[in-house]
Amino acid sequence: MNIDSIQNGVVLDHIRAGKSMLIYQYLHLDTLNCSVAIIQNARSVRMGKKDIIKVDTPMELDLDVLGYFDSNITVNIIRDGKLVDKKHVELPKKLVNVIRCRNPRCITMAEEHLDAIFLLSDPVRHTYRCAYCDTATDKTFP
Ligand SMILES: [Zn+2]
Repeated sequence: MNIDSIQNGVVLDHIRAGKSMLIYQYLHLDTLNCSVAIIQNARSVRMGKKDIIKVDTPMELDLDVLGYFDSNITVNIIRDGKLVDKKHVELPKKLVNVIRCRNPRCITMAEEHLDAIFLLSDPVRHTYRCAYCDTATDKTFP
């Protein structure tokens, strides 16, 4: 594929340099049948270096997952070769089944059918707390 000419798809821009593979995994992009291009260490006026992911198919992205990892990411929606929408992600107030609780006594460890729900408790430090046992998350992202 010519990565500069996606006709219908999604471009994730302004990913912090070095984090594109993690986002690729969390968005399960490996399960897609279309072309996915990962560009690492692209030059950026604003950020110095950045990563970009281009997906050559229209898809619904989990913006909460993206916002949790990096609230600077912009999502560009491409239709018929044109940029038709640009979305900014934000730190989600609630995460469902994105991360698991690390408390070994948490009920979500025993009851695997329960959704793993985390609520934002500190927007500055990006800390989330388990909705069941109140255990705080480790900081996955610096
Ligand atoms: Zn818990």
